[in-house]
Amino acid sequence: MNIVLASSEVFPFSKTGGLADVAGALPKALVQNGLKVSVFSPLYKSIDKTHLTLANNVDIGFDNRTINTNIYKTSIDACDFYFVENEAYFNRDHLYGIGAHDYEDNALRFGFFSKAILDSLKALGIKPDVLHSNDWQSALVNVYLKLFYKETFPNTKTVFTIHNLGYQGVFDKYYMNNLGLPWELFTIDGLEYYDKINFLKGGIVFADAVTTVSKTYAQEIQTPEYGFGLDGLLRKFSYKLSGIVNGIDVDVWDPKTDKFIDYNFNDPKDKIKNKTAIQKLLNLPTKNVPVFGIVSRLAAQKGMDIFSKSIKELLESHTDAQFIILGSGENDIEESLMQISNIYKDKVSLNLKFDEPLAHKIYASSDFFVMPSKYEPCGLGQMIAYRYGTLPIVRATGGLKDTVKNYSNRVKNPTGFVFEKYDSQELTKTLKKAIDLFNNKKDELLKIAQHVMQLDYSWKNQAKEYIKLYKKIYG
Ligand code: ADP
Repeated sequence: MNIVLASSEVFPFSKTGGLADVAGALPKALVQNGLKVSVFSPLYKSIDKTHLTLANNVDIGFDNRTINTNIYKTSIDACDFYFVENEAYFNRDHLYGIGAHDYEDNALRFGFFSKAILDSLKALGIKPDVLHSNDWQSALVNVYLKLFYKETFPNTKTVFTIHNLGYQGVFDKYYMNNLGLPWELFTIDGLEYYDKINFLKGGIVFADAVTTVSKTYAQEIQTPEYGFGLDGLLRKFSYKLSGIVNGIDVDVWDPKTDKFIDYNFNDPKDKIKNKTAIQKLLNLPTKNVPVFGIVSRLAAQKGMDIFSKSIKELLESHTDAQFIILGSGENDIEESLMQISNIYKDKVSLNLKFDEPLAHKIYASSDFFVMPSKYEPCGLGQMIAYRYGTLPIVRATGGLKDTVKNYSNRVKNPTGFVFEKYDSQELTKTLKKAIDLFNNKKDELLKIAQHVMQLDYSWKNQAKEYIKLYKKIYG
C-alpha cells in the first residue's frame, strides 16, 4: 500500500509535542511492514535545507493567486520525508505562535500546507491509497481532496487522526474566500462552527475514517465533558471513529544507547549515577531522595494547576524529595511554579524551555514521572518513562488510563500510580504513596521498575492496527 502522512510537525525535524514523535516513528514502523510511506510537513526555519534535496517546484493555487513553491525531500529508514517551503508562512522562529499567542495567519499557513500537499502529490506523481492527516493543521486535506482532486486521486481514501480535541483551528468565516472554499460548505453539516470555520470539524466530516490516540479517549470525546463542543458530531460519526493507542520510537528512547544521558544502563539499579549527574547539572543537592520528573507543556490540560498546588503542600510539610520540571506554556502556571522554585531552590529545579537532551536526562534519572492530566488523548511521557525504569504517576484519563496500572494490593503487576479525581489533594496523597514506596519498600520499587522496563510500547504492534484500518477503508 502507498500511504501519505500529513503532519505539521515531525521528529527529528520539528517538534512541539507528541504529534512529532508519532509522525516520525509510525512511518518507520509502516515501512518495516512493507508499506510505502511519504510524510509531508512544512519547511520551518529550524530545518536545515542544505541537508535536503529539491524534489520539485510546484505552482499552488491558494488565496486567489498562484504560489510557486519548492518541495524538498530526504529519506530516512526507507521512508520519504517531503517539506513544503513558503518563506512567508513557515520561515519563523516558532511552529504555531509565540508562547500562548498563535500566529494570526494560522488559517492561511495551514490551509496553504494542506492544499500544497495535494498539488505536490500530483506534481510528484504519487497516488496514495490512503492519505492520513493529523490534527487541525492538515485537516483541510480531506476537504480539498473531496472538493477538487476527485479526478486526480479517484481511489484515495482518507484517515484523519485527532491527537488533541482541545485544538480545533477555529477561524473567522471570511477565510472561506482565502481558502478557496465554497460557501455551500459553511453549514452545520460542513465546516461551520458557531459562525466560524472549524478546520478540525472539516477533517472529521470529510474523512473516510477518524481515529484518535487511545481507546478511552475515543469514548471520552463523545461526551460533553471531553468533547470541546464536538461531542455531538463525534457521536454522529461514531461509526467511523476508533481509538489506536500510540507507540514510541524505542530506538530514540533507549537507555542502553541514549547519547543524551550521562550513563547508559539496562537495569534500574544503575540509574543512581544518572540521578547524581543531573543533580550536579541542575545544582540540586546530590543525595538519594525520591526524584519526580516532569517533561510537559505547562498547560492546564496537563494538570499543571493541581500539580503546583500539590508540590507546595508537600514542600511546606518538609518532605525530602526533589522535583525536576522541564517545559513552558501558560503564564499563570509558569509564574506559580517560579514562585515555588524560588522558595525551595534545593528541592525544585524549574527549566522553562524546550530541551530534547535535558528531557532524556530527566526520564533516565527520575524515580517517578508525573502526568496529572485533566485530559490526555494518549500521552507519551508515561511510555517513555517505562523505557527508563521510571514509574509514572498519572490521573485516570484517556491514554493514561489505558497504559498505567495502579500500585495497590489488589492489582497484579502494577506499573505506576493512578489517581481518579482531578484534585490537588488526590495528587498529593498519590505523591506521598510514591515517596513511601521509595523510602520504605526499595526492593519492591526496584522490581516494578524492572518490570516496566520490559513492557513493549513500541510501534511494532500499533502500526498493525493502522494497517488493518487502512486495508479496511481501502477495500
Ligand atoms: P503533548 O500533548 O504535548 O503532545 P505527549 O505526552 O503526547 O504530549 O508528548 C510530549 C512529547 O514532547 C514527549 O516526547 C515529551 O518528551 C516531549 N516534550 C514535552 N515538553 C518538552 C520540553 N519542554 N522539552 C523537551 N521535550 C518535551
